[in-house]
Amino acid sequence: MMFEYAVVGSGIGGSSIASYLNSKKKDVALFEKEPYLGGCSSTFRHKNFNYNTGATTLSGYEDGFVVKEMFDSIGFSPKLIQTDPTIVVIQNKKATPRYKDFEKFLNVLETNYPHPKNREFWALIHKINSDFYKHNGHYYSNKNLFSKICSLASFTPLGLSFFKYLAVSASHFIDDFFGGIDEEYLQFLESQILIVAQAPAKEINFLTAALSLGYTFNVNHYVVGGFSRLFDDMTKNIKNIYRDSEILSIEKKSDSFELYTKDEIFRAKKVILNSTVYDSAKLFSDAKIKEYYKYYEKLNNNQSSFMLYLTIKSEQKFHHHYQLIQKEKFANTLSCALFVSFSDIDDLNLAPSGHYSITASIHTNVQFWQNPQTYKAQKKELKNLLLDTILNQLSIKKEEVIQSFAATPKSFNRYLNRSQLGGNAISMENFLPFLPSNDTKINGLYNVGDSVYAAQGWPGVMLGVKNLQRLLHV
Ligand SMILES: Cc1cc2nc3c(=O)[nH]c(=O)nc-3n(C[C@H](O)[C@H](O)[C@H](O)COP(=O)(O)OP(=O)(O)OC[C@H]3O[C@@H](n4cnc5c(N)ncnc54)[C@H](O)[C@@H]3O)c2cc1C
Repeated sequence: MMFEYAVVGSGIGGSSIASYLNSKKKDVALFEKEPYLGGCSSTFRHKNFNYNTGATTLSGYEDGFVVKEMFDSIGFSPKLIQTDPTIVVIQNKKATPRYKDFEKFLNVLETNYPHPKNREFWALIHKINSDFYKHNGHYYSNKNLFSKICSLASFTPLGLSFFKYLAVSASHFIDDFFGGIDEEYLQFLESQILIVAQAPAKEINFLTAALSLGYTFNVNHYVVGGFSRLFDDMTKNIKNIYRDSEILSIEKKSDSFELYTKDEIFRAKKVILNSTVYDSAKLFSDAKIKEYYKYYEKLNNNQSSFMLYLTIKSEQKFHHHYQLIQKEKFANTLSCALFVSFSDIDDLNLAPSGHYSITASIHTNVQFWQNPQTYKAQKKELKNLLLDTILNQLSIKKEEVIQSFAATPKSFNRYLNRSQLGGNAISMENFLPFLPSNDTKINGLYNVGDSVYAAQGWPGVMLGVKNLQRLLHV
């Protein structure tokens, strides 16, 4: 069977581009190793309860933003609940809800982290955030020198508007702006930057930091029914979806590709890989393609996530998302902040009545989890530590916990073929034109997902989907 497009992987990138191509009447097949669609943004079932795998928030579903633009072009409207506050940040027993409304947020901030420059700083964050999303028309390809020059030119208006924030490290900018702030406030800012930018403030420019701090001023959503349901709904018109179908190798032929699963061979004129650029070389025997992907392995920063999944039965009312910040880094992690997401109390698809499904995550490094002698003990220790932190800080009783278990970068590798998570952090060193793009030097071979342009998360990956749509001329 010959398809026009074979999309390998059903993460945000793979499912969205496959749905888009399908909506344009292209002959497309979508292959997913797992039974669930969505990758890091999926939902899975464990011992009778459902959990969101990684992602729990949907940002960018509003007019003028890329997620809504792409969903609209597919003809898809997801079932969502707007979240406001987007998150509640808890540090030293102080709760700071990140309200969308500027004045409402500033009021709480001034009580919890008073500073004479607060209004000026957050007004700047708000302005950069709203100005940034008005910029359209930029695209990215680094296929050859000409396409690199054209793409850089397309970024000129954006670069000119934000030059002074692009050329300076976020840490320096924040320090200079406030003329020094206390450790606690800095940690509050740093923790929120890390969850969006996937890099500490000292490694990124101030524009990236401002967008990370400002995303709660945008519309954010909770996905009803769990993320996998969104993917099932988005892809429902695609005839050829192969679940439980890992592509084990891909052979380049003169004008097409052969894709091998355990027991079948598929053929396609074009292949779009949603596997990360760090994990794709092994799929090919062709030396030129192997070399292409090997080149990008140097961008792999080994950053990843440690996960705690919980089901609780509780009468308490919870917000959808919390960030719990403590003074010191948790052992075997890269962070002092834990991100905790609760299912909506009325979301009976995700948790039974009176129950909450909880997905908690913290940044870690893949290399912390490679010693088979210590792996089990480390996992148990961190799991218990995170569990205690959640129970203590959110006043949940031990007896309300119905089920709890953890996952490490090794688990992600086993299920999703990737242990690096969060894609390419956009750091001062790792920016255009060094990022891998959605097209490649190899005819008919494309990439989509958070390890290629533009970045991680729904808005980042969707910018890449839009870019790919343009590069494919569909
Ligand atoms: C803990 C955590 C929390 C996060 N929270 C948020 C959040 O709240 N909001 C947000 O916007 N983003 C969040 N993110 C980021 C976001 O989830 C990811 O950036 C995004 O989901 C990545 O999408 P992707 O297109 O790169 O595909 P991936 O999620 O990487 O999916 C790729 C898919 O390809 C499949 N695959 C790989 N190789 C093969 C093969 N050979 N054959 C067949 N199938 C294959 C995998 O099984 C997987 O399903 C979070 C990430 C993590 C890890």
